[in-house]
Amino acid sequence: MVDEISIYECACGSQLPAHLLICPGCGRLPHAERLKELVAEADRARARGEFSGQASALRNALELLPANSRQHEVIRARVVELSDMIDAGFSPEAAAPAVNAPIGATRPRRTLLKAGSAVGVIALLLWKLKFILVFIATKAKLLLLGLSKSTTLFTMLLSLGVYWAAWGWQFGLGVVLSIYVHEMGHVAALRKFGIRATAPMFLPGIGAMVRLHQYPQTAREDARVGLAGPLWGLGASVATLAIYYATQYPVIAAIATVGAWINLLNLLPVWQLDGARGFRSLSRPQRWIALAVIAATWVPAQEGLLVFLGIGAALQCFAKDAPENGDARGLITYVGLVVSLALLSGIPVPEAVIP
Ligand SMILES: [Zn+2]
Ligand SMILES: [Zn+2]
Repeated sequence: MVDEISIYECACGSQLPAHLLICPGCGRLPHAERLKELVAEADRARARGEFSGQASALRNALELLPANSRQHEVIRARVVELSDMIDAGFSPEAAAPAVNAPIGATRPRRTLLKAGSAVGVIALLLWKLKFILVFIATKAKLLLLGLSKSTTLFTMLLSLGVYWAAWGWQFGLGVVLSIYVHEMGHVAALRKFGIRATAPMFLPGIGAMVRLHQYPQTAREDARVGLAGPLWGLGASVATLAIYYATQYPVIAAIATVGAWINLLNLLPVWQLDGARGFRSLSRPQRWIALAVIAATWVPAQEGLLVFLGIGAALQCFAKDAPENGDARGLITYVGLVVSLALLSGIPVPEAVIP
């Protein structure tokens, strides 16, 4: 996005509109200075071992380069390479345990376990617990971060007002929080891949959205970003259900099941919905498998929405954009989400609280 400057003066003296990426007068790149900065930024991120930061700087550089230029081609290739590395789990988070736990830490642990030492088992449990706590803390920090954006907070309160008026404050608040967690799932994935996007914006009565400023460069990263919303939504729904079983407070059960249903709705593989993005990385045979799983899920779940998911999936089986090479992780994520969300949304809720 080149929105900060509208007119640019090229070194040759021509006045150019900022969206022109190459000067028609002299052939120079008018944003050469900014490009240099971005490439330097990417180099610094690379030196720190930050894949996301590097991808982010290079994606910004990509926007300033003419689409058919050699530089564009080279930088795009690097972004795709980084994207695949991030997807394969070479994230700084994955590399981080090396700092916390010195190299070789896994071997003594295994030896201890082999010796059947109780100390070893406790150490392992503590280590796992620490990992889980760090994992939750990272996600929780991001969840709170989203609320610091004024558009998000403002539109969220507006939405809360609408749902409150329709269903009362408890259920209304539950639905808004559930949508919020879903959106932050997208935000987390976008940050991981270094893709610039808006903060989540609620559309009162409809849902919420995150608008992308940059097109994903690969079908896989598009799929990961798309399915991250329902994935976090599933987490929220399971956590809410656990709270219900602990408290037996009926409205919480309704929030858990309706939350699951909303996330299942987003898995419709049509239009710009999350499900359609999830399908982008699936090969044709994988699309058929997804369709078969949706059909099979109908048997235990009896959820009408699955019929529409099935129709959408069938259309995707015949779509021309199916890649040759499939994406096993994408398929497992998609069908796993469909099955678990469909079953969750069908959990019986105390009659009185259904809005
Ligand atoms: Zn010029
Ligand atoms: Zn979504």
